[in-house]
Amino acid sequence: MIVKLDNVKKHFPIERGFLKRAAGIVNAVDGVSLELASDEVFGLVGESGCGKTTLGKLILGILKPDSGRIEVATKKIQVIFQDPQASLDPKMKVFDIIAEGLIVKGAGRGPRGAGLKEKVEEALELVRLPKSASNKYPHQFSGGERQRIAIARAVITDPEFIVCDEPVSSLDVTVQMQILKLLKDIRERLSITYLFISHDLRVIKFMSDRIAVMKDGRIVEQGTTQDIYSNPVNDYTKLLLASIPDIL
Ligand code: ATP
Repeated sequence: MIVKLDNVKKHFPIERGFLKRAAGIVNAVDGVSLELASDEVFGLVGESGCGKTTLGKLILGILKPDSGRIEVATKKIQVIFQDPQASLDPKMKVFDIIAEGLIVKGAGRGPRGAGLKEKVEEALELVRLPKSASNKYPHQFSGGERQRIAIARAVITDPEFIVCDEPVSSLDVTVQMQILKLLKDIRERLSITYLFISHDLRVIKFMSDRIAVMKDGRIVEQGTTQDIYSNPVNDYTKLLLASIPDIL
């Protein structure tokens, strides 16, 4: 077990109007219990607004739960967000973006830190970008390449667990597949556990060993990918599955 959630709840006030008066609450995460095993890809799927990102942020410690328990058995956690454009500092060179994690951790102290250049080059190679990428800025790359940079920045810190929050949703369909294959390949090589968040059941099916289906802040069904796809029990899961053309 690498992550365990026990009856976790998180609500937000709904504010309305100019004076931002509280007009109710939204139960973004409403009593979620889950366990992620080490070295698996756990897919979290559901439509927009069902609470997936909030759940990811609770696990990352960015948000605190109102109630319930969250145990994360490693400190080596990283996150990959949907929009690499927004998550990469446009004023920083790619070298510094990727090296940042290690510098923060102390590996880069001193005159650039021994081995830092090699480590950045290794990370670039892992995400299949050329060494020359180091000297450029994020805007000089395509969306898919920028997501590769974000992945390199995450993996250089040698994480045990990565929350991937809609990592391909902002990309063209053809590029999506390349990035998904890259994420799969990296995980297999480095034994990293993923919480893989997506609204897209095809993406979730391609990536995940196990899946949880989320609706209105609750997990309505969970199981192995095979079970969920071949024998869905919950009506909402059936509806979701029926609504996608099976092209993968
Ligand atoms: P999406 O993929 O569209 O981001 P999601 O499934 O990730 O959807 P969340 O972003 O977790 O869903 O949002 C769940 C609910 O909580 C939504 O109704 C959203 O409006 C609300 N919510 C999320 N964050 C906040 C916040 N900081 N303040 C108020 N409401 C919020």
